[in-house]
Amino acid sequence: MSGRLIGAEGEALARKAIDLLSEWGIPLTAQNYEVGITHILGENDTLTSDISAIIDQGQTPQEADLVELHDRHFNKKKLSDEVQKIGGAMSAELATVMRRLEEAGRDTAAYGEALAGASDRIDSETDAETLKAMVSALMDATHTMQRHSATLESRLAETKQEVSQLRTNLEIVREESMTDALTGVANRKRMDDVLNKLAAEADQTGAPLTVAVCDIDHFKRFNDTWGHQTGDQIIRFVASCMTRCIGNRALVARYGGEEFVMLMPETDMDAAVDVAEQVRTMVESKRLLRRSTNEDLGTITISIGVARHDTGAHPHSVIERADNRLYESKRAGRNRVTGETAQSSSSAAA
Ligand code: GH3
Ligand code: MG
Ligand code: MG
Repeated sequence: MSGRLIGAEGEALARKAIDLLSEWGIPLTAQNYEVGITHILGENDTLTSDISAIIDQGQTPQEADLVELHDRHFNKKKLSDEVQKIGGAMSAELATVMRRLEEAGRDTAAYGEALAGASDRIDSETDAETLKAMVSALMDATHTMQRHSATLESRLAETKQEVSQLRTNLEIVREESMTDALTGVANRKRMDDVLNKLAAEADQTGAPLTVAVCDIDHFKRFNDTWGHQTGDQIIRFVASCMTRCIGNRALVARYGGEEFVMLMPETDMDAAVDVAEQVRTMVESKRLLRRSTNEDLGTITISIGVARHDTGAHPHSVIERADNRLYESKRAGRNRVTGETAQSSSSAAA
């Protein structure tokens, strides 16, 4: 962000961003503020035009819009900057190596010429002094060659190390781009990739692939009572319950604000409902304390819907069907797991 937020003028601009968020009914988190102040300062035209597009439609930007805007304009940008930096370092490294190899090629050619010239003349040369001079010139050429190839060798070793470091950095950046920053579980992008892969596998092997969609009950109320930061603490807690209950091959992903998905390959409906039940009871049985003040937050509950991937179906349709079961759980009073029965599956397909 620019250095313009100084003095009374800066304070007024900061206040304007805060007022705008409050006018939109959006909680003041660091990320939401970053979007708001960037818009107020007019520092990012595409972000401002994205916001204007929402307002022009007669709507008020929602929190989900700001989360999405932040992801698009800040996270993705940071990521692409990072990848570009690594790409730049890699090509600089490669250019150096290419130059060294060219130099080495020239050295080798010169050495070859020196050898060839010497062998031609050595046959006819009779003068001892001249021969001695020729031998010493050859020795020099050989030494130069040896020195240069030693430099090249160590330079190549350095490059190998450098490139492997860059590869590790790239791997870390890639990993970060697939991970939800708040909870450390997979983000939606990774979930999409893994779901596509698992569905293709299930289509081939015929093994069951089940999916559970989970949503925290009355979370708005919780946020309103305890604040957004404590809300975030709860989101992290629910994610940790899921990772603890789920097996190695399965994947937990944060699907949206307070919604999660569990992808369970080679798991039939009964086993998947069991896992979902374990998560549900683990969440409801824990008495929560507010980290900052140790206040008793009571308990929270979650609702879950479970569905099985139909062979050959579009990978995403199973999420939609699990989502329908989740809303059945909500309608039936929350804090429960609803698994798709053969009947509900066919009626959903109809
Ligand atoms: P229901 O039982 O029907 O699910 O009620 P609900 O209040 O939980 O309703 P809904 O699932 O629609 O509400 C989601 C709320 O979650 C809205 C938003 O304030 C909150 N939320 C979304 N993302 C975040 C986040 O990243 N952090 C926090 N603290 N709250 C979030
Ligand atoms: Mg929700
Ligand atoms: Mg909810």
